Amino acid sequence: MEHWSEQGLRYLKGVGPRVAEKLQKLGLKTQRDLLFHLPLRYEDRTFISPVGSLQPGQRAQIEAEVLHTGVHFRRQGRSRRVLVAKLADNTGVVAVRLFYFNANQQKLFEKGNWLRCFGEVRSAQGELEMIHPECELLVSEQPAPLPQTLTPIYPTTEGLHQLSIKRILAQVIDKLQTDGLAETLPQDWLDQNDFPDIGSAMLRLHRPESKRDSELIASNRHPAQFRFIVEELAAHRLALLERRRQIRSRKTPAISPDDGLRDKLAHALPFELTGAQQRVLADLMRDFASGKPMIRLVQGDVGSGKTVVAALACLPVTESGYQAALMAPTEILAEQHYQNFRQWLEPLGIGVVNLMGADKGKKREHKTAMIESGEAQVVIGTHALFQASVEFKRLGFIIFDEQHRFGVDQRLALQRKTRDDEMPHQLIMTATPIPRTMAMSIYADLDYSQIDELPPGRKPVTTSIVSEQQRASLIQRVAESCAGGGQVYWVCTLIEESEALQCEAAEMTYETLCQQLPQLSIGLVHGRMKPKQKEAAIMAFKQGTTHILVATTVIEVGVDVPNASIMIIENPERLGLAQIHQLRGRVGRGARESFCILLVKNSLSELARKRLEIIRSTQDGFAIAEKDLEIRGAGEVLGTRQTGEMSFRIADLMRDQKWFPQAEELAKMMQQPEYTSERAELLRNWIGERQDYTDVG
Ligand code: ADP
Ligand code: MG
Repeated sequence: MEHWSEQGLRYLKGVGPRVAEKLQKLGLKTQRDLLFHLPLRYEDRTFISPVGSLQPGQRAQIEAEVLHTGVHFRRQGRSRRVLVAKLADNTGVVAVRLFYFNANQQKLFEKGNWLRCFGEVRSAQGELEMIHPECELLVSEQPAPLPQTLTPIYPTTEGLHQLSIKRILAQVIDKLQTDGLAETLPQDWLDQNDFPDIGSAMLRLHRPESKRDSELIASNRHPAQFRFIVEELAAHRLALLERRRQIRSRKTPAISPDDGLRDKLAHALPFELTGAQQRVLADLMRDFASGKPMIRLVQGDVGSGKTVVAALACLPVTESGYQAALMAPTEILAEQHYQNFRQWLEPLGIGVVNLMGADKGKKREHKTAMIESGEAQVVIGTHALFQASVEFKRLGFIIFDEQHRFGVDQRLALQRKTRDDEMPHQLIMTATPIPRTMAMSIYADLDYSQIDELPPGRKPVTTSIVSEQQRASLIQRVAESCAGGGQVYWVCTLIEESEALQCEAAEMTYETLCQQLPQLSIGLVHGRMKPKQKEAAIMAFKQGTTHILVATTVIEVGVDVPNASIMIIENPERLGLAQIHQLRGRVGRGARESFCILLVKNSLSELARKRLEIIRSTQDGFAIAEKDLEIRGAGEVLGTRQTGEMSFRIADLMRDQKWFPQAEELAKMMQQPEYTSERAELLRNWIGERQDYTDVG
């Protein structure tokens, strides 16, 4: 008979078709899936804080009496009701604010009621408040029993309340408690590491039992956590290795390295390749010669010269009768790559074509026909290349520039664009440095090369933090630099979710600067402009017809104008450190002494100041990335690879680095033939049917 843990969720109370669908969205189909749905975090509701002791920023639980309640109207777009209540115990008063409420909730806040509330404390206009706390009615002043242990909080999805998911989970955890769960890992290995068995580890995390459990869990030091962290890291590593194995077993284009052509181009370049560039090029040639599909990640700091290496690598590909495709994350960057590649490759008789989203009608037909006929030997573009209507004649090599901006789905889509079932060689280029240990677990499927040297003659960029009050003198300085033939980037940033606002800010800055500096020619580029307009703005700046380029972060990667020597970034605190570093990399490329000016608001938090100080004090991309990882976490910094493609349930790549060796050891062990079924189980529990790992096109 089917084990209970394999059963579907419809047997559980509270799971109808609608809820089942929500659970499915979370990847939960069987009761065992539910057990592996571990708490996201825990809250300590074992004690009551006196209202007088509350601090802003704290998550706290209080018991207090409603002094009075009022419903206000607030104008904002359209008027909205807000419930504001004052609650007090004998130590102090706190406000509670509800922006959405129904009649029942309003009733809860009747004057004289005693409530137990849990929520985040904020300070607003000098008083403390809690916004939408979880509240429960107490029978007058009678204390209701408090939880004795930590309260788990589970990941959930829109329309599925925390309490609902808890009620559903409770049924499965009850069964776990009575029936246990079969062990999935080798017992010897568990004993050796002092790790608990699967059933009790799971039970502890869903239902911390003792004070001691709670303390250990709260500080991430519980053996149950250790076990699952290692297990999860190992599962991801195994999945990546499996993907690698699958890719590497595929047939691949035979590309014979041709040194003659490459030497010719290298000689035609106005510079010598750096030692690091030559080394990486040699890695790529070795991959081509190996007869197996290349899957290589090349990391090189901003300005290290990745583009020319990619261009050189295309030569043996076209020479062997295959096409190469380069994917850029933005149109601006694609356009720039196109210009460079044409300049380098066309004199050698190689056909270069760019394909953008904006190419429509006849123009598009013409280009896709060239791609289909093979006349286009090197194709450069954005996501437009992924569209189903684009057929390559014989695609042999794909380059992904700044890959952390591409989802794996897109990569896979392009891989499907090959005939003869051949797996094209893949080169992924990024400026984001990945700490060595971390690279081992998140890029286990990729080979790794580094361009660890900048071309000679790069000038260090002097970075300073300048406050809003000094804007006038900054504008003066810009005027002087431009009068002396210099050029300036002026970058406007706003919260990332709102591209529209960002563009608006850039437009406003553009208007103001035009008024303040009538003697200068000023350009504007942002994401809402037509590709043709963007291109024209960048071109004008490149050719020196505009002195200042006001831009949004669209210019973050790739834009290359060596004469520009000043980079001004407004509100840099809104950006990640790696992003600021990328932007700063736009200057310091030419003969002029270069400056990066971080224009900040007067009221900058201590943390924000500290972060900007890191940028100011170093230009070492590695040091910056390490700090950025510490501050923001891996998902933010490394992009989709963590957030979309590889989201961890319990492991944290930054925090759990000390477990990498054990995870590697476990993964290695599970690769042995005698653990085939255990391996399958491990992958099933942690990776499930996540398509990204298993589908290699
Ligand atoms: P990134 O690695 O950030 O993509 P790019 O490939 O855009 O850097 O190169 C930055 C600039 O450096 C370009 O103008 C490029 O032509 C130039 N460059 C590349 N390699 C060298 C080199 N070996 N010597 C001098 N300049 C170089
Ligand atoms: Mg680049």
